[in-house]
Amino acid sequence: MKNMARTLLISFLAALSVPAASLGFAGKGAFSAGGEFSAATPEPPVSAEPFAEAPSVPERLIQLLDGDKCVSIPLEEYIVGVVAAEMPASFEAEALKAQAVAARSYTLYRISSGVHGGCICSDPSCCEAWLSEEALREKWGGAFDTLYTRVKDAVADTESLCLSFGGEAILAAFHSSSDAFTEDSENVFRAVMPYLRSVSSPETEAEVPNFASSVHFTREEVSDTISRWDASASIPASGGALITDAVRSESGRIIRAKLCGRDVSGAELRKIFSLRSAKMSWETGDDGGMDFFCTGYGHGVGMSQYGAKVMARQGADCAEILAHYYPGTELVPISALKYSRFSF
Ligand SMILES: [Zn+2]
Repeated sequence: MKNMARTLLISFLAALSVPAASLGFAGKGAFSAGGEFSAATPEPPVSAEPFAEAPSVPERLIQLLDGDKCVSIPLEEYIVGVVAAEMPASFEAEALKAQAVAARSYTLYRISSGVHGGCICSDPSCCEAWLSEEALREKWGGAFDTLYTRVKDAVADTESLCLSFGGEAILAAFHSSSDAFTEDSENVFRAVMPYLRSVSSPETEAEVPNFASSVHFTREEVSDTISRWDASASIPASGGALITDAVRSESGRIIRAKLCGRDVSGAELRKIFSLRSAKMSWETGDDGGMDFFCTGYGHGVGMSQYGAKVMARQGADCAEILAHYYPGTELVPISALKYSRFSF
């Protein structure tokens, strides 16, 4: 009965929801590249009277892009699917809680930016990964009950909490692992974010699978890779330097370099050669082949997930982990955000 009432209420709220862009909210995000927000507070439920067992606090709904349409899903249910898709569920409880808060904050930031008309998608290269309960049952098999409970508990323990800077939900970027230090946002995303600063990160190769990685490209593979990037690029003759003028950040990651004489960012260089991190070095072989050596995994900005895991194991709680990786932010309920757009 309770489930039915909940389903009915969700349907009721979905019917009431108004496309976010049409509400014309004109707040301005201090760090939003998109300028004006197009997201707005959905119309609140007028009455839950018809449903005797309706929850006293209405569930917050977000819009999830499903194919070419947006579907309503309770925010907290959505966050369970994000945490489960983005962090191993076997990680320490406080790390999972930190991930839940980071995912909730990022989701609100992303929706605020007006992406997909106020919806969020489950493509990790665009918005963030998300897996349905069905997909998780398939992924986890016999371990589903244990792992799903761990994630659900982490989300429930942090219900409605998010990170705020200047009253706004933050761009809570996260990545898998960093070698000693995370990265300043401007070295990867171009924009300077005051809470996305390079900070120490405690994980080492003792805790992180494939922390140090290497990959070899034959001359032919180098040639094919460069051609796919830019068919008109001129590859140096055997023994010549393919990558020159490399500039590193203080954390040791490549910020920019020249590839075949053309300017590339560290992030582009990483993408072109499908490398695990921009904290890289390389050797050019006499045969024209290349060896790359990387440490860590991901862009390096914001919270390191393995760093959070190690901090949790060392006794840090969720709030301490978040304060470390997102300096200067506040852990607040969604209702405390400046424009209360997410009070629903
Ligand atoms: Zn997206």
